[in-house]
Amino acid sequence: MKRVLITGAAGFLGSHLCDRFIAEGFHVIGMDNLITGDLKNIEHLFKLEHFEFYHHDVTTFVYVPGELEYILHFASPASPIDYLKIPIQTLKVGALGTHNLLGLAKEKKARILIASTSEVYGDPLVHPQSEDYYGNVNTISPRGVYDEAKRFQESITMAYHRFHGLDTRIARIFNTYGPRMRLNDGRVIPAFMGQALRGEDLTVFGDGSQTRSFCYVDDQIEGIFRLLHADYHMPVNIGNPGEISIKDFAEEILKLTGTEQKIIYKPLPEDDPMQRRPDISRAKELLGWEPKVKRAEGMKKTWDYFKTLSKEELQKKEH
Ligand code: NAD
Ligand code: UDP
Repeated sequence: MKRVLITGAAGFLGSHLCDRFIAEGFHVIGMDNLITGDLKNIEHLFKLEHFEFYHHDVTTFVYVPGELEYILHFASPASPIDYLKIPIQTLKVGALGTHNLLGLAKEKKARILIASTSEVYGDPLVHPQSEDYYGNVNTISPRGVYDEAKRFQESITMAYHRFHGLDTRIARIFNTYGPRMRLNDGRVIPAFMGQALRGEDLTVFGDGSQTRSFCYVDDQIEGIFRLLHADYHMPVNIGNPGEISIKDFAEEILKLTGTEQKIIYKPLPEDDPMQRRPDISRAKELLGWEPKVKRAEGMKKTWDYFKTLSKEELQKKEH
């Protein structure tokens, strides 16, 4: 039976990856220090013979006994409020954590896929963003801790590939959403849906003209799975090119949730990217992949998930 190590397993994407690899017949080893994740996301897997969980911080030496076919490195805070609250850990998990996992991959002769991000393009001056664009990142802004950690992560991964011949993959993930996002993680979809559920007004930052392109989690996981199995070492954008302004998105959410609240405006966070849309030509060509789930359908599933959360979870505020 093939064995896969997934870091960040108790988080949003990591937990969906665990489900996918279990369904594909793998022995799955999940690793997480629970700094932004939640065991609830994987508790359904604990009873399975072919699932193991290591409560471990990947910035310290990582050891897993036995063979490993694949490593998927997804551990990292991913929401702006998380990485602004824990900036040093964010830098460490992108740098030291990635170094540890590359070392483990070398030791085990395993293929490794790392979760990079559209944030490597910073506040992009090129639109849409293709993999050839070098980006526009402010190294020293508060947000820079995440962007630079991920840029370093890509550099060290390519260095291991070129210098040690390691079998590497780099997924540049664009805004992804769906069930198991943390309601209070500050990202725009949980933020708006949490506000809708609590009967609060929806907080649009800036004038809401900034854009994002949202990818449903099932599409994202399929893209990552295909990339892992493709013979390609350079970065690949995985995301949904359907772009929308944050103001229009807030209006869509008000319609979807059928709530009476208004939109209110708050200051735009420093270095908040003004536009973002993936060019997915490379993924289409290499992986025969493109997203299938329409925003209306994905948002409905996400709303149905958030509606099942308890009152206590709803009241837990983190910002
Ligand atoms: P998440 O916060 O839900 O999950 C991240 C998980 O990593 C959490 O369970 C957290 O506890 C764990 N973690 C953090 N630091 C760790 C450490 N030092 N050791 C062990 N575990 C640690 O976030 P997510 O949305 O699932 O993101 C997962 C990955 O995908 C991240 O690397 C993120 O940068 C990347 N990504 C996500 C998106 C997105 O839209 N969701 C977009 C781009 C990139
Ligand atoms: N945003 C907003 N209101 C909120 C939370 C976020 O207007 O309550 C905006 C945020 O400023 C950004 C966009 O929504 O322009 C997406 O934010 P998110 O944190 O989800 O992702 P990222 O900025 O990392 O793409």
